[in-house]
Amino acid sequence: MSTLSAKEAWASALGSLQVEVHKQSYDTYLKCSSGLAIEGDTFVVGVPSPFTAAALERGFTPLVVRTLNGLFKRPMQVAYRVLQNAGNGVHAADLPEDAVLNPLPAPLKQRRRDPAALLNPRYTFDNFVVGKSNRFAHGVAMAVAESPGNEAYNPLYLHGGAGLGKTHLLHAIGIAAQGKGLTVMYASAEQYTNEFVNALRLGKVDDFRTKFRNADVLLIDDIQFIAGKDASRESFFHTFNDLHAASKQIVMSSDTRPRSLPLLEERLRSRMEAGVVADVQAPDLETRMAIVAKKAALSRVKISADVIDFLARRFVRNVRELEGALNRLQAMAQLTNRQVDLELAQQALADIPATAGNRLRNMPPKVIIETVAAYFSLSADELTSPSRRATIALPRQVAAYLLRVETDRSLAEIGTFLGDRGHTTVLRAHDKIAAEINASPNLNRQVGEIRAALERRLSSQSA
Ligand code: ADP
Ligand code: MG
Repeated sequence: MSTLSAKEAWASALGSLQVEVHKQSYDTYLKCSSGLAIEGDTFVVGVPSPFTAAALERGFTPLVVRTLNGLFKRPMQVAYRVLQNAGNGVHAADLPEDAVLNPLPAPLKQRRRDPAALLNPRYTFDNFVVGKSNRFAHGVAMAVAESPGNEAYNPLYLHGGAGLGKTHLLHAIGIAAQGKGLTVMYASAEQYTNEFVNALRLGKVDDFRTKFRNADVLLIDDIQFIAGKDASRESFFHTFNDLHAASKQIVMSSDTRPRSLPLLEERLRSRMEAGVVADVQAPDLETRMAIVAKKAALSRVKISADVIDFLARRFVRNVRELEGALNRLQAMAQLTNRQVDLELAQQALADIPATAGNRLRNMPPKVIIETVAAYFSLSADELTSPSRRATIALPRQVAAYLLRVETDRSLAEIGTFLGDRGHTTVLRAHDKIAAEINASPNLNRQVGEIRAALERRLSSQSA
């Protein structure tokens, strides 16, 4: 990649960052940045204001560095340089004071807006590709959009791994309900909590309540982030009850089923399960191909069948990654004035490992083993013991599989961590689970839940 100019490299980095960073944060802090220079191991990024520089420095440096490392295949550093007359970027004065302190979630500018305004107009049912992996979830979402508040589907609880279309479905329901003239409220659990905490601070809890209770349809995304917070959980419980009693529709998404939500009281849990609980799973190849084709058509990119096939085979687990790869390819094509063809696709994506955006790569194997063991109610010692009992062997194989796919450890190292096993054992375990995941929805779900648990450990570490 060293032949890339700073400008090209940064365009490519932005393609990846756009996928990993919250949209509002991206638009606020990254969109207006540019690649200035590569000075030795330091990549210099141009930004429009000291404010943006500070925000990027504090909030995004690890992510930016990781992206650059991937791009250049060597350890890089990043420096932000404020440009004079950088045009109309975002000005510090436009943003609330606390924006710099916590830029990552950054619904800050949006906070003052109507929550329904946060619906992404592209996340419609029309733009959603239905396949075996999401048919049920899509079906109930449609039913809810058709007759919100219908007791049979209220509340609707969607769960599944990251980047599999939960938010898309929530928005689609919201957009459809708005079309019927209904009042829709959409918030991530994090936004809900932030708003609630703000309302508490400003003594405006009543306004907050009224606002959410006026909704005909309440969409709460990533409910797992509400689960641990006391006062906001209590508040959500009341909002939930009020709306439910008034036959208003509630839709929630989460990375786990209600039963696995941490620290959730029984009364709230059983209410969440009282309507429909539907999961979304990783799409199969055919669905992934249909998704790429749809996204390409939506952004008017001409793309041939072999490129669709290439992308869909390479990004298997997460539609967001798949979409990010397509965006990056498109950016690359524009930048270099070339057609989107297989050759370009191979070049453009050469430095993204098939497990792009994999945040688990540096997780210590011990932690992964512990997490898998705990998921199956075993101790780490049991999991790594010589026992061949199925109740232990399967979890061990799952651990081998995850270590192989998620980390950069060698087969030999993985074998050592799993109780001094040989590398062929590890390889066989990996292959077995990889095959079974496709055949068994149950195993697919279990592995998804373990991944979610690992991601959670990661976020609680970095928080
Ligand atoms: P989640 O909320 O489950 O993490 P998102 O709803 O944000 O995932 O989806 C990530 C991206 O993938 C979005 O851009 C979404 O439009 C796209 N996507 C996911 N599933 C589908 C699908 N079945 N059809 C079309 N696009 C999809
Ligand atoms: Mg989501």
